[in-house]
Amino acid sequence: MSIDLAESMLSRRGVSVSSIADIVFQLQKRYHPKLTIDQCEESVRAVLGKREVQYTLFTGIALDELAEKKLLPEPLQSIMEQDEPLYGVDETMALGVTSIYGMIGLTSFGYLDKEKMGVIETLNDKSDGIHVFLDDLVAGIAAAASSRIAHRNPDAALYSAGSD
Ligand code: MG
Repeated sequence: MSIDLAESMLSRRGVSVSSIADIVFQLQKRYHPKLTIDQCEESVRAVLGKREVQYTLFTGIALDELAEKKLLPEPLQSIMEQDEPLYGVDETMALGVTSIYGMIGLTSFGYLDKEKMGVIETLNDKSDGIHVFLDDLVAGIAAAASSRIAHRNPDAALYSAGSD
């Protein structure tokens, strides 16, 4: 039960810490001219270090993998295979992760839900496994890591409305 297990589960599912850090960097670079990828990776690891986040990952990844093995009861199996857009439980679960550093993560999560950047877009490619939960969980982790950086930014005024 540790961050190492969370990282190895993510990598088994095709997601590295650095691929999540890349998304955090894209989200935060305009507010943080001196931001480095290393700082983004450190922030992703801080999020993954929270037990609540680890438990959420274990749950979501288990459901994705059970769906790939066709082991879920109906109607859940069909819903997962179709990635039914109105299902919504995947987003609900990810919001728990997103909000660990406050509500500012919600904006980033909503943006990532629409834009599907980087590894999130790869996970959305339906030809390669079932990632109903993982795409949202990665967006949630990136949004939380991004909020954490925002909260530490002394130049918080840059985040105000109007700076897009
Ligand atoms: Mg999803």
